[in-house]
Amino acid sequence: MSSEQMQAGVLVQPKSLELQTRPVPTPGAQEVLLKMELLGICGSDVSLYLGHRSNTPFPLIIGHEGIGRVEQLGAEVCGLQIGQRVVIEPNFPCGHCAMCWSGRGNICLHKRIFGVLEPGCFAEYAVIPAQFVWPVPYNVRDEDAVLIEPLAVALHGLYTAPARPGDVLAVVGLGAIGLLLTQLAYRMGYRVLAYDRVREKIELAEQLGAIPLPTDSSEADLAKSWQKAGVSTIFECAGAAPALTMAIAAAPRGADLVVLGLADQASALTEFTLTRQGIQVLSSIIYKHPLDFQRSIRLLEQGFIQPSKIISQSTTFSQLPAALEKASQGQDSKIILTV
Ligand SMILES: [Zn+2]
Ligand SMILES: [Zn+2]
Repeated sequence: MSSEQMQAGVLVQPKSLELQTRPVPTPGAQEVLLKMELLGICGSDVSLYLGHRSNTPFPLIIGHEGIGRVEQLGAEVCGLQIGQRVVIEPNFPCGHCAMCWSGRGNICLHKRIFGVLEPGCFAEYAVIPAQFVWPVPYNVRDEDAVLIEPLAVALHGLYTAPARPGDVLAVVGLGAIGLLLTQLAYRMGYRVLAYDRVREKIELAEQLGAIPLPTDSSEADLAKSWQKAGVSTIFECAGAAPALTMAIAAAPRGADLVVLGLADQASALTEFTLTRQGIQVLSSIIYKHPLDFQRSIRLLEQGFIQPSKIISQSTTFSQLPAALEKASQGQDSKIILTV
């Protein structure tokens, strides 16, 4: 296999993604080679593309959301079969640091991040530790399966809050994570108030069951709507500093605020607002290995939700450079690419 060539999406430098010919990688003893079939562009890909991550090892094959078929097994791999359809879990906690021992592998000190700090899956083939690929149940469609990874992020965020079904939630920022969280929460029996500045995204959230708030809502408008509806928990999924500032300022008394965004700019907050209003700030990043992935796969297997409803564009891998540029404009909720 090693002498064969493949097409790969290589981020050469910020704003410059090239489709290059690369050798097909060879799996190590505990790894598998996947023939990629369907890929998803994530907000993290966009932030790598825009050069927002200072530790990016350029040139890098990016991409971490994808499904594919097992093409080749490493010598020590068991439990997987050639030809099997699998989804990638792209964060690899070490399993033996203090964080991993306490069940918090999502913030592992030695976490490897596929497609961010090492070569990923925006390519015809990718190599990945066998421990981090999951067979996709036969009744789950490709377009839903390719969204299992962001669904696990949304699920972990939802489970971070003490809120229970029947409670009223607010979601700020309706990118893929905000929309998946909205869909999941609505289906589970929460009431969801959704807010974003992009009208198409609010409309999509409404189709997924949310109560839409006007795109031009001010901080005071949000505070009033959330107060009136009895919002107990706010999920900040925008990943923009002003959105967090707004969410804190508008949070009803006693509310929990779960921060899922990855903005690297400072937000403004007034300590007294938090303490006087009794606002609890929690944070949620990625998911617990292996529980949240397993849960997300089972929810799809049971037909509980259809994450593919958030797909805004389907195109082909050959269009990756243009698709990534389009994703960076911020209007799309999810772009997927057929390899
Ligand atoms: Zn992602
Ligand atoms: Zn660890």
